[in-house]
Amino acid sequence: MAGDASAPGTTSGAGTTAGAHTTAGGHMSADEFRRAGHAVIDWIADYWQTLEKHPVRPSDPPGTVAQALPVTPPEHGEPFDRILTDLDRVVVGGLTHWQHPGFFGYFPANTSAPSVLGDLVSAGLGVQGMLWATSPACTEVETVLLDWLAQLLDLPQRFRSGSTGGGVIQDSASSATLVATLVALHRASGGSWRTAGTTAGYTVYTSTEGHSSIEKAARIAGVGDQGVRLIDVDPVTLAMRPDALRRALDADLAAGRRPAIVVATVGTTSTTAVDPVEQIGAICAEYGVWLHVDAAYAGAAAVCPELRWTHAGLDRADSYCFDPHKWLLTGFDCDAFWVADRAELVEALTVMPEYLRNALSDTGMVIDYRDWQVPLGRRFRALKLWFVLRWYGAQGLRAHIRSAVAHAAWFADQVRADDRFELVTPGPFSLVCFRLRGQPDEVNSALLAAVNANGSVLLTHTRVAGRFTLRLAVGAPRTERRHVAAAWELIADTATGLLADQR
Ligand code: PLP
Repeated sequence: MAGDASAPGTTSGAGTTAGAHTTAGGHMSADEFRRAGHAVIDWIADYWQTLEKHPVRPSDPPGTVAQALPVTPPEHGEPFDRILTDLDRVVVGGLTHWQHPGFFGYFPANTSAPSVLGDLVSAGLGVQGMLWATSPACTEVETVLLDWLAQLLDLPQRFRSGSTGGGVIQDSASSATLVATLVALHRASGGSWRTAGTTAGYTVYTSTEGHSSIEKAARIAGVGDQGVRLIDVDPVTLAMRPDALRRALDADLAAGRRPAIVVATVGTTSTTAVDPVEQIGAICAEYGVWLHVDAAYAGAAAVCPELRWTHAGLDRADSYCFDPHKWLLTGFDCDAFWVADRAELVEALTVMPEYLRNALSDTGMVIDYRDWQVPLGRRFRALKLWFVLRWYGAQGLRAHIRSAVAHAAWFADQVRADDRFELVTPGPFSLVCFRLRGQPDEVNSALLAAVNANGSVLLTHTRVAGRFTLRLAVGAPRTERRHVAAAWELIADTATGLLADQR
């Protein structure tokens, strides 16, 4: 059927992007793919080049995008240029533009050209890397890449594949935390969790600032909300209090419960607080509890030696993860997850049906990454990471992190210098948390809404000690100082108008 001009749905292709006849409805021929592919790359390059002309966030009401689509699927194939045209007509207007230089919301989810191209190759290869045997390169490139990343971040030796541990790419930090929770339950139960499940009153610990994915993991793992302990934080640093952790562990043990895992955070979602991993690790060692360190956003900063202090004590962790898809120029999805003991991980998760059995897996000589994650199947995500690391090199990655940290520090200086504002926490990374000093939540919330309504920027908010707080997170790859300066000018001017209206 490939290239068959008589295939159903064949159209004249008049006006195709590449100006060529298309045989929609059949498989794309190699030449059609080449033309369409070039057009797609051109489209993405144009999109990136013109990002600033779009409002960062769409303003159309819910349902607008859905209404622009036909109610029924196409009966006949369509020429490729029509699909591409509809990207502009239907999709772009309904996007929040995460790569926009004025995107300062949540945490960044930056991507880059090498990452996109690596992903494209992965899509083209279409391999399934569930077992070493199902695509050796998919497994081996990933193992080496995770060792490279471990070197770049200077992670403890025990996380490396040459030692007892190793790394794997998960789709998200949430999945990494879930996997860590499952292995922790395996350990806490002395192995019986695999057969008996989680009826024995297991408990999970994180701080009140820990990410929601920890509670979700506890639910999925069968621990339930009742088994989650949210440990108090220091009121100034918002980092977990080791003394409070110890008290919670003692109370649970006294009540006959079984502490399974502590999740410490390096760079909490609200304010980028850094839990004292060293002290928490010492407590976990004393109580025999698994320590997982969630550095989803901030872990990337450790490519810079001056920011590695955040990893002090990591050699006590049983597992660690960070998201290159947040701040290391690698498109979603790419979470890097390491364990110190890969044998324990595999023991917890492996199930070997006959249809997957093969001689090399049986010898134990190869890594089968299906045993390191929840799903069976997996794609070749290491390729995009490989392209990114090789294109930028360690120096390029450090420059990316440092520029975002410098922009955020500059912005924090402006906040500090303006009496009307206050910095809520001193973030060491590229997030600034701030609000109007002495103003109620409604006024700060109105400020955020008015600033975002301008369309040139997007900021989001959190609550710190119950109070509405604005967050400006720098990290989009095209953000320059002029964009941060424009954001500050907009915020300061909007505040002037808002405070004048109040009088
Ligand atoms: N952990 C922390 C500290 C986060 O900030 C986030 C997301 O912002 C997550 C976990 C969840 O990340 P993912 O979307 O990769 O699951």
